[in-house]
Amino acid sequence: MPSNMMDMKMVQCDCGFMMQSHSENEIVKMTQMHAKETHHQEMSAREVKGMMKPAMMMK
Ligand SMILES: [Zn+2]
Repeated sequence: MPSNMMDMKMVQCDCGFMMQSHSENEIVKMTQMHAKETHHQEMSAREVKGMMKPAMMMK
């Protein structure tokens, strides 16, 4: 399976909240929003990108 066809990224929060997208910017925005609303925490884009992993594609 070619790994570069579906370049999905994901971030999983410590609380179990998970988001995945093809767009890193979208993940950054969603993670920042989640951290702020749920954990009252400000996250920088760099911090979010540090948590980012390649998403597993589920069949
Ligand atoms: Zn969380």
